[in-house]
Amino acid sequence: KNLVVAIDGYSSCGKSTLAKALAKKLGFIYIDSGAMYRAVTLYFLRNHIDMNNEEAVKDALQHIELNFHSRDYESHITLNGEEVSEEIRQMPVSENVSEVSAHKLVRKDMVKQQQRMGKSKNIVMDGRDIGTTVFPDAQIKFFMTADPKVRAERRFKELQSKGDTSTTLEDVFENLAHRDYADTTRAESPLTRAEDAVILDNTEITPQEQLDFAIEQVKL
Ligand code: C5P
Repeated sequence: KNLVVAIDGYSSCGKSTLAKALAKKLGFIYIDSGAMYRAVTLYFLRNHIDMNNEEAVKDALQHIELNFHSRDYESHITLNGEEVSEEIRQMPVSENVSEVSAHKLVRKDMVKQQQRMGKSKNIVMDGRDIGTTVFPDAQIKFFMTADPKVRAERRFKELQSKGDTSTTLEDVFENLAHRDYADTTRAESPLTRAEDAVILDNTEITPQEQLDFAIEQVKL
């Protein structure tokens, strides 16, 4: 049987850093489930989809095709054939993704696609509901947390290094707080720790220490 490593947690607490490093070390495929919700959000923004109109949402979902292309364990996502990996990290998407991802039909569609991806291959998937809803039977589960200020600083630096100068540290902090609140309080599979998930707080540890800790857990 194939193996699934599920990594969940709050926004910007290093899930993707750990997921990529683990995938590389184990030779598994890395899947960024957040990128899927972000790409759907981008489509909804571009096409002015009204979230309150069920038919419009349903129809939009039928016109969205998402594909991952991994290069060096960096995951790249295409939306209907267009590379959108950079655009989905920018503020307009970050500000709307929690609302879009709270929609029942959106979640149903994404979860189905994610489950298909993990059916026959060894994967590491990160997100909010991977260990609870997408793969409740995953053999290895992590739940990540970190100090909110540290998280905002990290994400801010990342945006700056990509040339985004329009966003302030306060904007980032507010956005993370807003998304954490929305993600933990929504009706559909809210963010919560799976009972069997190992907690990993990376406020004070380096990516290498975090990877070493995770590898040790995988061996058990
Ligand atoms: O992981 P990332 O921060 O890129 O995810 C963006 C947003 O997508 C989250 O704030 C959350 O609202 C949503 N998401 C989700 N379920 C997942 C992954 C992401 O609802 N499995």
